Amino acid sequence: MSTDKIYDMVIIGAGLSGIGAACRFRTKFPEDSLALIETRDAIGGTWDLFRYPGIRSDSDMLTLGYDFRPWVGDKTLADGPSIKRYVETVAEEYGITPYIQFGSKVTSLDFSSDDDVWTVNISDVKTGDMRRIQTRFITSAAGYYKYEEGYTPEFKGRDDFKGEIVHPQHWTEGLDYSDKKIVVIGSGATAVTLVPELAKTAGHVTMLQRSPSYVASIPSKDTIGNFFRRILPAKTAFKINRAKNIWISKYMYEKARKNPEKTKEWFRKKILKSLGKDYPVDKHFSPKYDPWDQRVCMIPDEDMFIAIREGRASVETDHIEKFTSDGILLKSGETLKADIIVTATGLNVVFNGQSDLSIDGEPISVSDSFGYKGIMYSGVPNLVSVFGYTNASWTLRADLISQFAVRVITHMKEKGFTRAVPLAPEGMPRRPYLDFQAGYLQRVFDELPSQGDRHPWQNLQNYKMDQKLMLEDPIEDGALTFSKLNPVKMAAE
Ligand SMILES: Cc1cc2nc3c(=O)[nH]c(=O)nc-3n(C[C@H](O)[C@H](O)[C@H](O)COP(=O)(O)OP(=O)(O)OC[C@H]3O[C@@H](n4cnc5c(N)ncnc54)[C@H](O)[C@@H]3O)c2cc1C
Repeated sequence: MSTDKIYDMVIIGAGLSGIGAACRFRTKFPEDSLALIETRDAIGGTWDLFRYPGIRSDSDMLTLGYDFRPWVGDKTLADGPSIKRYVETVAEEYGITPYIQFGSKVTSLDFSSDDDVWTVNISDVKTGDMRRIQTRFITSAAGYYKYEEGYTPEFKGRDDFKGEIVHPQHWTEGLDYSDKKIVVIGSGATAVTLVPELAKTAGHVTMLQRSPSYVASIPSKDTIGNFFRRILPAKTAFKINRAKNIWISKYMYEKARKNPEKTKEWFRKKILKSLGKDYPVDKHFSPKYDPWDQRVCMIPDEDMFIAIREGRASVETDHIEKFTSDGILLKSGETLKADIIVTATGLNVVFNGQSDLSIDGEPISVSDSFGYKGIMYSGVPNLVSVFGYTNASWTLRADLISQFAVRVITHMKEKGFTRAVPLAPEGMPRRPYLDFQAGYLQRVFDELPSQGDRHPWQNLQNYKMDQKLMLEDPIEDGALTFSKLNPVKMAAE
């Protein structure tokens, strides 16, 4: 176990966020030492892991891609392999790939307050051998869910089912579903992506949901954006189009939050227009919650509605009584026959890549802390953790966090500080970390840090406000505190 070298930055994860953070860090500090620790043998994270048919983004690529490296392509949404290639290309272009230690899982992180250095314990995925490295600063860009296993509720009679059961997170390569009867359990982004794709060749696809989600169709091609691309220099067109998409999604989100009832009616009308006035829209597409209490599912060019209209797919809103040998018995008494059941039932949310945190060997739980700007944890030094937007593209926020980390480190270098730690005011009331009702987050709410009742202890989920908070507000704000190691000690090192 070698601990000689102290890295300036260790980034956990080589997905969209980790690669973005590395680009920002390398650009600002080309001479500093950097390591990215990545469990998988590939770059891309989510876009490498998920391989189900039709896998694509449901955010527009001008904002899911990086601000500093334009996404080129005329489609609004992009397929998984293209996104993975994009992240790989950016890593190559910015010289990041050689810094990645693949097949390496961070298992725990310990901060030593004697020397203001993190020890990162790493397990070799193939051999299980442990090694450790040290670093002055950590960016945790490990995503927000467990890679090993998706979330699947207990289904009675599961073992009785004679067909194939597959979870989208671990799709069976080469699964032949042509002419098969398929039931997709779920109503989130993954289910609405899978249904029309499978329905292209399957016998029939039923989307079985316990409760509906909001589903909105968007044009797969950005006509206005493509017009600007034709008439303007590429860089200018990218800037304008990206700003346009940020503005549109902010406008739609804020309008929906201000006028939920009007927005619900807007969704309803759109669906009736697409599926016909007799379609039971209230049963299948009118959630009980307000728009954006959970993420709205985006589909391109009405693809799922077209599959439903053409009878290749249908929706059932009911509860599962049990799996049977040839399908699913519903609580209503109805049976859905199936050759294949797809459990699009979600993710198991975890944080910091499931690595244990400690300070001077004392375990700490982030659930005891307050989130500082939704980036750092109170009482935890020299560590930023990336969590993106639930109401806009993840990368918009991830990139602000990477830039904020660069600002903090720049400040530390200028002033000779070795520690940056947010300290929460005594007695500040605790609030839930996010105003978001998605089931996968609700299941782990008690494991999250808290939000405070005041700035900068809130997680705003608002790009414009976050821009100010992370890029413009002074680094020394009284909440993020800085200190230096004893100078005698530093000289001795
Ligand atoms: C199917 C699907 C579709 C999505 N579509 C969208 C979308 O359209 N728009 C949007 O904004 N968001 C979307 N998301 C959210 C999505 O995860 C983010 O947009 C983005 O890809 C997250 O990037 P990330 O790098 O933060 O995390 P990830 O992509 O999850 O990457 C994290 C990386 O960290 C590695 N890692 C984790 N733990 C450790 C550890 N302990 N040690 C070492 N390495 C570790 C992982 O192996 C992985 O490579 C989607 C999510 C899913 C699951």
